[in-house]
Amino acid sequence: MKYISTRGQGEPKDFQGVLLAGLAEDGGLYVPESLPQFSADKISSLKGLPYNELAFEIIKPFVGGTIADDKLQQMINDSYGSFSHKAVAPLQQLDANQWVMELFHGPTLAFKDFALQLLGRLLDHVLTERNEKAVVLGATSGDTGSAAIEGCRHSEHLEIFILHPYQRVSEVQRRQMTTILDKNVHNIAIKGNFDDCQDMVKQCFADQSFLPENTRLVAVNSINWARIMAQIVYYFYAGLNLGTPEQAVSFSVPTGNFGDIFAGYIARGMGLPVDKLIVATNNNDILHRFFQNNDYRKESLHQTLSPSMDIMVSSNFERLLFDMHKRDGASMHELMDKFQKTGTIQVSDTAWQDIKSLFDSCRSDDQQVCETITELNANTAYLADPHTATGIRAVQELDLARETPVVTLATAHPVKFPEAIVKAGLNAPSLPHHMADLHDREERYDILENDLNILKDYIQNT
Ligand SMILES: *Cc1c(COP(=O)(O)O)cnc(C)c1O
Repeated sequence: MKYISTRGQGEPKDFQGVLLAGLAEDGGLYVPESLPQFSADKISSLKGLPYNELAFEIIKPFVGGTIADDKLQQMINDSYGSFSHKAVAPLQQLDANQWVMELFHGPTLAFKDFALQLLGRLLDHVLTERNEKAVVLGATSGDTGSAAIEGCRHSEHLEIFILHPYQRVSEVQRRQMTTILDKNVHNIAIKGNFDDCQDMVKQCFADQSFLPENTRLVAVNSINWARIMAQIVYYFYAGLNLGTPEQAVSFSVPTGNFGDIFAGYIARGMGLPVDKLIVATNNNDILHRFFQNNDYRKESLHQTLSPSMDIMVSSNFERLLFDMHKRDGASMHELMDKFQKTGTIQVSDTAWQDIKSLFDSCRSDDQQVCETITELNANTAYLADPHTATGIRAVQELDLARETPVVTLATAHPVKFPEAIVKAGLNAPSLPHHMADLHDREERYDILENDLNILKDYIQNT
């Protein structure tokens, strides 16, 4: 299995290469040269497997022999063994044809644990084998940071630096990061918004000369292919539980950076029968505007009750654009350069129509999110978090669950976002047992100006 950059330059890399690189040298994102194909018979043979065994079957072809099978299975077992629900990704039925798949039973109570529990172990394994050390650098709008820290904190080969926008993540989210006091964990609050943080991370990757020699920078945000890879698994898991391959399934996905839903797109490309993929956004609706009007245009950032989806641009969208441009790296290079200058992208009408046959979208503002939480709770007693609620509302709004089963990905536990739950007129749930004292734990983080050089100095001197 080889991986190529969406911007067409540089040599193809193997799995270990893309795991350690994150972003490609030409500024593009790595994608598989071609996807492993799972026939209907092969998919049938996966029915009934426990989550960790299914994960091995799906992930193995992407690793392409660069990690021994028994080691890979062990890391997968350890990753999902830390989840508090035996099914790992349990499905709850809401209606005749409607389900939620709960992806929040990992250590930090959001779906990002699926990828980052495994990513931390993969990095540790590969670096141990190579006898190397690495600096993990990432930006978070909330959930990535804590999941990455949980995934990396035990590795002796990693120093981890996580940037979050100062005073723009929820209290629970911040404390889940800043109360981890391991020596290799460094939390930085940047006086700016999430996109400022993400830009700084990108610029550090583009020019790594500030780092000491022989130290490598590793990306843990969803531009890292290994994260997408781990997320493909639960699409298969949902499908298999709902009658795949005979039965097609649709998915509604609360979306920010387009990583989670892109994994669903890849699952479909591998042979999973997926009918529709629904992009559910909050008021940060750049993707909704694209799927409705072919208008991908950077606008200002809105703070919402679903902060993990508060983004201006969706970094993984470039991977879909690459396919929409017939995988032509040269024209992608041009397109992304133009986007950098003008802040807008439009694709050809044919390409847009084509992608619309698979994707649809729906935007929900804070009020609609709260109404959805309230109504759903009144009708089913289910308590959805505000991110999940955007997905559930999209299913209702687009009237999807008529013939095809629809699965909304429940991306976070409602306890992480009490503000929205209270606004919805419900009681905020209490923290689960292992986090009950979160608000009493000691915190450690530094606040830095929104300035690249200050950040580079900080990393250098740590
Ligand atoms: C990260 C996150 C999202 C958005 O996922 P993307 O892969 O960035 O599209 C949605 N909900 C929650 C709770 C998240 O943490």
